[in-house]
Amino acid sequence: MKSKSQISLQLQTLHNEVTGSCTFCIVDYPDLTTERFALDCGFFQHDEEREYNTSFPFQPSELDFVVVSHNHFDHTGRLPLLVKEGFHGAIYTSEDTEKLLSISLPKAKEAVHELSKKLETPPLYSPEDIQATLGILMPIPMREKHQVTDHIWLTFFENGHVPGAVITLLEICFKKQKLNFLFTGDYNPQNVFLKIRELPPWVKKLPNLYVLMESTYGSLSKNKVRNTFSKTVASHIRNGFTVFCPAFAFSSAQKVLYAIKQMQQNHQLDPSVPIYLDGKQAIAFTELFASGQLNLLPLMEDFRPENLHYVSSDNRKEVMESPGPKIIVSSSGNASRGAASLYLPSFAGRSDVLIHFTGHLFEGSTSYELYHAPEGTEVTIGGQSITKRAKIASTHQFSGHAKQEDLIHFLKQFRDLNAVFLNHGEVPVKEELQRLIRKKVHVRYVCMTSREYSFRLGPTRLYEKKDRSIFYKSLCA
Ligand SMILES: [Zn+2]
Repeated sequence: MKSKSQISLQLQTLHNEVTGSCTFCIVDYPDLTTERFALDCGFFQHDEEREYNTSFPFQPSELDFVVVSHNHFDHTGRLPLLVKEGFHGAIYTSEDTEKLLSISLPKAKEAVHELSKKLETPPLYSPEDIQATLGILMPIPMREKHQVTDHIWLTFFENGHVPGAVITLLEICFKKQKLNFLFTGDYNPQNVFLKIRELPPWVKKLPNLYVLMESTYGSLSKNKVRNTFSKTVASHIRNGFTVFCPAFAFSSAQKVLYAIKQMQQNHQLDPSVPIYLDGKQAIAFTELFASGQLNLLPLMEDFRPENLHYVSSDNRKEVMESPGPKIIVSSSGNASRGAASLYLPSFAGRSDVLIHFTGHLFEGSTSYELYHAPEGTEVTIGGQSITKRAKIASTHQFSGHAKQEDLIHFLKQFRDLNAVFLNHGEVPVKEELQRLIRKKVHVRYVCMTSREYSFRLGPTRLYEKKDRSIFYKSLCA
């Protein structure tokens, strides 16, 4: 049983797998006071989970603060709903994520519109809720400790997942008791655009540390990732192909553009081959990356290839029909929405096109079906039946997630790991990573998070895993 003389932290994830990222935490103190916070507040993007978007199994008005680990919609997309439902604390994030959210969050109205159509319900939140959310973002510089409540101190550290991403350390103190809790968010040890410093020695030495860690690629070994992009693109360009690269607007599109610039510099690609970028957000993020306003490596602000042209609805048809060789980079990453979805039906049926996916292909998505369909067979794209004629390629090399070895290496740096909680991963992946951590890392407990159960943590030991969620079952079944 819980001792009333100890701090205790209850931990409850609201997501079981990779979207809708949100972890709700309640800290109970020996003086019978309580503090509550949430780590991320993302949108559920898979159809089978979409109904979870519509409500929270806690009172947003009772939260003291929220931490946002990075600018991805599956970590930020329900922040405006929190605000609409009465949250009035601060949303702590990095200085760069604050700038990035001012581009990405207003676009949330499209996802909200789509959800309201599918569920036949009023929109989840309004453009005014989005503006109110942007107004309570509280940017915190890296490596500066900030007191965020009476008993909680927060420090952000660099994280290579995407520009602006952080690892969050929360130090929860009550008199002589202290509970140390580290949240990776989505994590990557490096990023071509960023200088990622090691965690300082005092963090590695923290006693009884709890880590909440992502596990998206926890079953993928680094050795399985092939850096094939430039070779595949170069050979098709030499044969006069149009190369079409669906890429996520933020971070992936810029990494792909930089890879193309490197091909030009290495003489793998003639600079006279035109490069096109299509997608309003992809263009806005590209301009922001180049503007010097983000904390990127200074040399990387010059990441754009020669002969780069932006595409809009005015010239899209002309670009689509112009002869190859040419390269078109367009969002979204799996070509299911945005400008990329307008190219896909036409390009999938053309034998002079290489479609090179640069993001994860989710099972059941159109891009997944297209990738796996044999050439010459029918594929349904945007409601049309298309005979697949295009060449299709895919790579994980632009992924912003740590692979299995990186995650093990990350955990091994801590001197006194009490427990690791795995979140943000598909269940079989979490299970595989859990087994590997038990084998390779010195740690007392390795737990998988789920919306079906919660955990209660003390300053020096994990009290219990509860079989039931701390919320009423109907919402968390
Ligand atoms: Zn992410």
